[in-house]
Amino acid sequence: MKIVETIADLEKLRDKLPGPLGFVPTMGYLHEGHLVLVRQARAENASVAVSIFVNPTQFGPKEDFKQYPRDPKRDLALLEGEGTDVVFMPPVEEIYPPGFDSWVDVGRLARRLEGASRPGHFRGVATVVARLFELVKPDRAYFGQKDAQQLLVIRKMVADLDMNLEVVAVPTVREADGLAMSSRNTYLNLEERKQAAVLYQALTLARELYGEGERDAAAARRRMTALIQQQPLADIDYISIADAETLEELDEVKPPALVSMAVRIGKTRLIDNVVVG
Ligand code: AMP
Repeated sequence: MKIVETIADLEKLRDKLPGPLGFVPTMGYLHEGHLVLVRQARAENASVAVSIFVNPTQFGPKEDFKQYPRDPKRDLALLEGEGTDVVFMPPVEEIYPPGFDSWVDVGRLARRLEGASRPGHFRGVATVVARLFELVKPDRAYFGQKDAQQLLVIRKMVADLDMNLEVVAVPTVREADGLAMSSRNTYLNLEERKQAAVLYQALTLARELYGEGERDAAAARRRMTALIQQQPLADIDYISIADAETLEELDEVKPPALVSMAVRIGKTRLIDNVVVG
């Protein structure tokens, strides 16, 4: 496994890698959710590259960029174990040199849900992913369904800008109680961790309601809200039942619908989603 920190070293390596090249962009502090992406990339490609980069431009000024958990040594050991060929872990100045001022701004899709709650978030995500695609030049890039809107925004960018690669979606990996794995779960104390299971319980409720024939999205949102509010540490940012492609909120639940939410448990903001139909 080669570890590179500079664009110059990455470029030297890139052309020697047997194709096709599968690529998994991450912010590190890896867990099973990330490793499933790496395993799928490993199974489908001759070479696998993973990036570890906590991207400052996708964090708001009051968000957790500084506290975001980091453990590069452990990450590298895990990636080695998955048969990764190249790990790209650039310092911030390599991706954003002084004076850097060009941005990828995906439109309507990126302004809903997470984009509404976290202004500028997807501009940072799309810009860093575009930059990484240009440097790594993958044939396939792997993203988790856990971040459903991110996946849609990346697909839209790749389509609109004719980027020459395939975007592959990978299902969400969950803990035994349903909590979606996330590097941010490490912020939760014991009581918060228990209450965090309510996100998936609410998503499961939405699925059950749909299964029972409930098509009134407002009624389903109300039931989910009531369930989440039973947990004293939970504070809902949004609960959405939206068209799974456009992310427009639905009055009537029509498949495929994306049921998604952001909920603060204590100070930790968690997101999760399922597709119904
Ligand atoms: P992050 O390091 O949080 O930026 O995540 C890197 C990639 O891993 C993204 O494509 C995420 O959607 C994906 N990912 C994170 N957590 C999970 C999970 N629990 N299941 C599946 N994919 C995940």
